[in-house]
Amino acid sequence: MDYLKVKGSILVVSGPSGSGKTSLARAVCEELGDKAYFSISTTTRPIRDGEKDGVDYFFVTKDEFLEDVEKGYFLEWAEVHGNFYGTSKIQINKALDEGKIVFLDIDVQGHEAVRKAYPDVVTSVFVTTKDKHTLIERLKNRGTETEETLKVRMINALHEMKKIPEYDYLLINDDFEVAKEFLRSVAISSLIKTSKYELDKFINHWKGSE
Ligand code: 5GP
Repeated sequence: MDYLKVKGSILVVSGPSGSGKTSLARAVCEELGDKAYFSISTTTRPIRDGEKDGVDYFFVTKDEFLEDVEKGYFLEWAEVHGNFYGTSKIQINKALDEGKIVFLDIDVQGHEAVRKAYPDVVTSVFVTTKDKHTLIERLKNRGTETEETLKVRMINALHEMKKIPEYDYLLINDDFEVAKEFLRSVAISSLIKTSKYELDKFINHWKGSE
């Protein structure tokens, strides 16, 4: 298949905090087994109860993060809710070479940057709740937010919602199982986008096989 520009694909999953995007992306990625790779970001955000270093994120200090920026370690990085987050380049390129679906759980700025870097291989999904009230309830139930951080996350949520037109798909996460099925379908379909193929080469190959 040397008419494929890149063997794998990138599936960007964004959406407000509390939309359930991380749980959805992780669940689908797990179901897809070795066909998929979940990119673990690096962050300067404090670790939350129940999180593990190297599993949820690579937790680093601001100085360590900026050192990695200097070294060109990140494909993209951004400041989100007052903390730094970045996507490592090496692992992603490796997974793409191996033909995997690379899941990136990143914000709207990250989506813009990754789409610029890999215009042919990116498929993007914006996950959100059916209304604002549901999002507030979910964030409160999660118990990870103070009054202050909840406010910041709600302001950012409205900001992010304005970027929905830049995404390929809008997924309203009302029923988790239904949403999971949609995300799984999109993930698999991302491998066969026309933009992934060198079409002239493919058509020549196809003619040659007559
Ligand atoms: P949280 O602190 O709730 O885990 O994540 C906050 C936000 O940062 C989420 O919208 C998440 O998708 C985003 N995020 C996580 N990792 C990255 C990354 O590597 N790059 C960018 N641009 N955003 C990220």
